[in-house]
Amino acid sequence: MSKQLILALSKGRILDETLPLLADAGIWPAEDLSKSRKLLFDTNLPDVKLVVIRATDVPTYVQLGAADLGIAGKDVLLEHGAEGLYEPLDLEIARCKLMTAGITGAEPAHARRRVATKFVSVARRYYAEQGIQAEVIKLYGAMELAPLMNLADEIVDIVDTGNTLRANGMEPREKIADISTRLVVNQAAMTMKHDRLKPLLNRLREAVTSRR
Ligand code: ATP
Ligand code: MG
Repeated sequence: MSKQLILALSKGRILDETLPLLADAGIWPAEDLSKSRKLLFDTNLPDVKLVVIRATDVPTYVQLGAADLGIAGKDVLLEHGAEGLYEPLDLEIARCKLMTAGITGAEPAHARRRVATKFVSVARRYYAEQGIQAEVIKLYGAMELAPLMNLADEIVDIVDTGNTLRANGMEPREKIADISTRLVVNQAAMTMKHDRLKPLLNRLREAVTSRR
């Protein structure tokens, strides 16, 4: 294994909250991520490099060891599964909830409830646990549209304020999980690169606790 540590960061909204946290932990990119089209970056620490990738790809990179550690939303981790990953630290950023939602005031009409989501396995597991028959429909975006268009009776999605739901005549229903951003580590790297990982984990843990 190489002596470098590769840290995979989730693009998008998590990144905006990750960079200040990394800075608190004494880690910063050698150049401005937003002004570059590169995907792989040096940092101020000679043995740490960053890759900036699609949030849903982070667990795959870390599980397969292409990255040693990563930063990803718990929603993404629940959907991906925990195989090959340790989750040693809750970074306590990008907090939201994974919820079911539907048209305001509407009763779930179908005996077999049609559920639109990008969190297919989370949704299957949740409805099975509730003893509700569900037909889960995979979508990649704009979940709020599905009930309005009668594609689905309900959706499973991230909810923060609920404003997007309300703007589309929908209401949050049941909470499936509280979500925040987590640090994940490749299980083999945790053993093989323990000497390098440990100080990095400690710096991040201190940055998180000093913000409380
Ligand atoms: P896209 O929106 O382009 O399909 P994405 O949904 O994967 O991509 P983001 O919308 O940036 O990317 O969300 C990434 C992560 O940020 C989510 O997995 C979740 O953990 C967190 N997140 C999403 N929406 C919110 C929110 N409203 N409040 C707080 N955290 C959120
Ligand atoms: Mg999104």
